[in-house]
Amino acid sequence: MPIVLKIAVPVPVPGVFDYLPPPSVDLDRLRPGVRVEVPFGRRRKIGLLLSVASSSALDPGRLREAVAVLDEAPLFAAVDLELLVWASRYYHYPVGEAIAAACAALRHGGSANRPVGRRLCLTRPADPEGEHAVRRAPRQAALWQLLQEAPEGVAEEALSKLAWDFRPAAKALIGKGLAHWREEAVEDPCPGPVAESPAPPLTPHQEAAVAAVTAALGGFRAFLLEGVTGSGKTEVYLRLAGEVLARGGQVMVLLPEISLTPQLEARFRARFNAPVAVFHSGLSAAERQRAWLGLQSGRVAVLLGTRSAVFTPMRSPGLIVLDEEHDASFKQQDGFRFSARDVAVKRASLLNIPVVLGSATPSLESLVNVQQGRYQWLNLPERAGGAAPPEFRLLDIRGQRLVEGLSARLTAAIAETLARREQALLFVNRRGFAPTLMCHACGWVAKCRLCDANLVIHAGDGCLRCHHCGYQQPLVGVCGACGDRELHPLGLGTERIEAALAELFPAARVVRIDRDSMRRKGQLQRSLEDIQAGRVDILIGTQMLAKGHHFPQVTLVGILDLDASLFSTDFRSSERAAQLIVQVAGRAGREQRPGTVLLQTRHPDHPLLQVLVREGYPGFARACARERQTAALPPFAHQALWRAESRSAEAASEFLAALAERALRLPAPAPQVFGPAPAPLARRAGRHRWQLLFQSERRAVLHAALDRLLGVAAELGATRRVRWSIDIDPVDLY
Ligand code: ADP
Ligand code: ZN
Ligand code: ZN
Repeated sequence: MPIVLKIAVPVPVPGVFDYLPPPSVDLDRLRPGVRVEVPFGRRRKIGLLLSVASSSALDPGRLREAVAVLDEAPLFAAVDLELLVWASRYYHYPVGEAIAAACAALRHGGSANRPVGRRLCLTRPADPEGEHAVRRAPRQAALWQLLQEAPEGVAEEALSKLAWDFRPAAKALIGKGLAHWREEAVEDPCPGPVAESPAPPLTPHQEAAVAAVTAALGGFRAFLLEGVTGSGKTEVYLRLAGEVLARGGQVMVLLPEISLTPQLEARFRARFNAPVAVFHSGLSAAERQRAWLGLQSGRVAVLLGTRSAVFTPMRSPGLIVLDEEHDASFKQQDGFRFSARDVAVKRASLLNIPVVLGSATPSLESLVNVQQGRYQWLNLPERAGGAAPPEFRLLDIRGQRLVEGLSARLTAAIAETLARREQALLFVNRRGFAPTLMCHACGWVAKCRLCDANLVIHAGDGCLRCHHCGYQQPLVGVCGACGDRELHPLGLGTERIEAALAELFPAARVVRIDRDSMRRKGQLQRSLEDIQAGRVDILIGTQMLAKGHHFPQVTLVGILDLDASLFSTDFRSSERAAQLIVQVAGRAGREQRPGTVLLQTRHPDHPLLQVLVREGYPGFARACARERQTAALPPFAHQALWRAESRSAEAASEFLAALAERALRLPAPAPQVFGPAPAPLARRAGRHRWQLLFQSERRAVLHAALDRLLGVAAELGATRRVRWSIDIDPVDLY
């Protein structure tokens, strides 16, 4: 009987590929979950062995032999493979590519069972020629000097902590034959007994939450921990982690943002004497591999990671926590478009462990899951330590004279806050100086040449930039249509507010927090420290500021302009606006000083704003859910978005039209089909973008239809002219 290996190969083709075992392989090593090198076309690929079978749908004589088995032991346990295969089916994404994306930490070959690191070493340490060869390049000279003083070489991890990027210099030294990399095994310390440092006594609500989850340990259950900002959700996670560690289990904690990991890492390390690892895309490949393998081998007790960490294998899984569960960053927006939140819940059910989703502003999806009995609701309605909730006020700015977007009342409130030596935080959801440059004479607007989008003014860099494709040009002084020289910036960006505040409050220390100002590595951490230490008076920022950080000295929050999102065509936009408002507001008055939130609006009577101010987020969410139910929109229906884009104006729309035509002929029960329609951003980077929306109240109906249509898409053979993708449970209709 032949032995047939079913291998997931990372290629953009659905399905699993059959191979014969490599010649003279030890059959013991053919265990599902090991990586296998295989020939694919004329190239070689690294795939993952999913199962071993005794037959193939293909003629065994035509099967090719695998080249080699790369790992001594499986990288994934059977249940983790099951999760990956489930995710690939659910998201309609080729299983080999899904797995490759899930274990990106192991991209490079070589056996992965022993964690490896690299050291950069001088090839001839005492060679006087070396110094000569680097004398004209200061960084190479610095690196050479550093290596000169370390006969054992310097670990890549240590080099990556230098204030400058060592890579070009290292490459140059290696190119000159002066240095080389040496691979080595890295031993992690084994976890000792876990000691816990003292924790504050829990509030009764925290106590109830901890008790409920603790009682569920050892079995599957999903919890939604809804706790207002500052209510002590993190303290609940710490207590639960303590329970799990005490039973010898491991804990995975997922966060939406890299920038939140240092704070949480510090809190875990302060509490537990246990190995804590961090996993996110900002780490070096070696660091990620070490964290991955640490969790897999059981050496790491707690993993803190961003969405890509959700697939990391665990030796003795005990609990998964996902904080800020409403955050859209948990959804991957390209390639393998999984939702880390939904995968986490599925994973917990496969592993038979509890999962806790936490947020001050839960997504409607999770709230409806509570309503329908799938999740258990835990509530922390009050701030811990007795801090008062912030007070909300709507500032009606109709007919008011605004100075660079700031009303007189907001400016006065900032002045008072500064006089009390407290901090003010201003939220503007746009980076750059202004979103538009307009000609006063003819109304011309500076547009991107490649996208259907306006260019954003970046005054600091003296340029106009497209936020969709990165195109940029110098800031023009003449109208592109009529040649007039009177061009005006239109609208507000963080840079503009920063400039206005410098004029209004020349003595104030202002820090701007957005993707532009925080581009440099370590900059955000430094700014956060300055804010904590009171070296900042006014904070201005985008949603980067809204995410989970603690600013205990902030007592005033000003929200400049969220009106646009009240009237957007995206049905999720009001939910998002409410979450942003509440999250930003939650930064204020977290300790003994009460906070005030001033929300500038031209629509003070808008029903959603009214209910948000009167009843807070829970009332808002109820109202919003009722609207969704009436309109039969998610979470009361399930959606899939089929996107297509092409260089020619027609190819994408024709491809989707053909698909839609087939979809409408599917036998009942079939999903509803909307479109094809141009994407909200109809052209990006020179490509025309269209989309087709499928919707059904039953997931199974949706997925069956997509499976049929995937076959059709292959038949249409349009893949060469059209790039397409499927987005299951899309959160962003762009
Ligand atoms: P959240 O994650 O809900 O925003 P945190 O867990 O960070 O809240 O707690 C907010 C603040 O309250 C922190 O400074 C924390 O140390 C404090 N805190 C949390 N729980 C308690 C408690 N039971 N007693 C006293 N202080 C607490
Ligand atoms: Zn003009
Ligand atoms: Zn563009």
